[in-house]
Amino acid sequence: MKTPSSHETKNYPTWMHIMREAITSTKELETFLETSLTQTPYSLFIPRPFAQRIKEAGIDSPIGRQFIPHAKENIKDGLEDPIADHLYSKGNGIIHRYRNRILFSPTEICPIQCRYCFRKNELGQQDDIFKAKRKALEQYLQEHPEVEEVIFTGGDPLILSNSKIDQYLHSLANISSVKMVRFHSRTPVILPERIDHDFIQLISRYSLKFDIVSLVIHTNHTSEWSPLFLRKINQLRALPINLLSQSVLLKGVNDQVDDLALLFKMLVINGIRPYYLHHPDPVKGATYFQLSLEEGRKIFHQLKKRVSGFILPHYVVELPNGKGKALAFNSQNFNSDGKWIDKDGEWIENPF
Ligand code: SF4
Repeated sequence: MKTPSSHETKNYPTWMHIMREAITSTKELETFLETSLTQTPYSLFIPRPFAQRIKEAGIDSPIGRQFIPHAKENIKDGLEDPIADHLYSKGNGIIHRYRNRILFSPTEICPIQCRYCFRKNELGQQDDIFKAKRKALEQYLQEHPEVEEVIFTGGDPLILSNSKIDQYLHSLANISSVKMVRFHSRTPVILPERIDHDFIQLISRYSLKFDIVSLVIHTNHTSEWSPLFLRKINQLRALPINLLSQSVLLKGVNDQVDDLALLFKMLVINGIRPYYLHHPDPVKGATYFQLSLEEGRKIFHQLKKRVSGFILPHYVVELPNGKGKALAFNSQNFNSDGKWIDKDGEWIENPF
């Protein structure tokens, strides 16, 4: 995990101050929380205001478990690249897995280090996936007019400054084949200060230049939310953008039906449409968050009975070897032989 460089933080706003002062080592975190913790090989990054909330909730709370290092991270099972991003990497931060859309990773910086992250073995590794170049992105899109949507992922794209985001959106708005842009971000929840006036203005302006601008907010539990987050969401929902959520089903965090039902209802009440509930990927160093598909399906089945259909997200699982997402709870995606349909519409043997 990197922090913003001194160059980037010249005249920096409040949220960048918070980033600069974040807790970045186990020792610092032990002092802050007044407890002893296990050292793991993975980086640590927690903004102090969020660390304070973890301190109040406890390290075994749903927010503590997501961000505090755990001894089980030292277990060596699991995969370094569970969704096979590298098979589809085109270099310069571009991942082209589906025909009409690309993922673009303009940064490897995040507002926090999630212990379950599917990229936890890649972030901070100087990986090619994160060596983003704007000119190369423009050239790729010009050579691939079939791409209609650019999905900013990371790291976390909202950690870029407003002027950087402006530059990217300006470039994309001048490429006529690009109709939609989407941001996947954990920042509004972890560092709501980042959703500042200029950002709101920027997104509002660009919402008129694309057919659809989407913001997919990553949140796993309502205890992550603060009053400031809710105020910022109130401002965002007034914009003509598509506000969506994605969550990861995590053992010991949100694997209780009550917690998930509350999360998805509260999202809808606050103007955010639940989009994806991801089955956890078998990530090296994070397998202690895993549930079996059978366990996940039982939870989702209960959830279906508890909330209306418009509140339910898609429960999805990443098929191995980069075969894409499939609905984890849909009889059309597995037949009696245990076969699944991959992203290209091909039947594949049960990979689980
Ligand atoms: S914010 Fe997203 S990319 Fe960053 S550590 Fe968390 S899950 Fe991973």
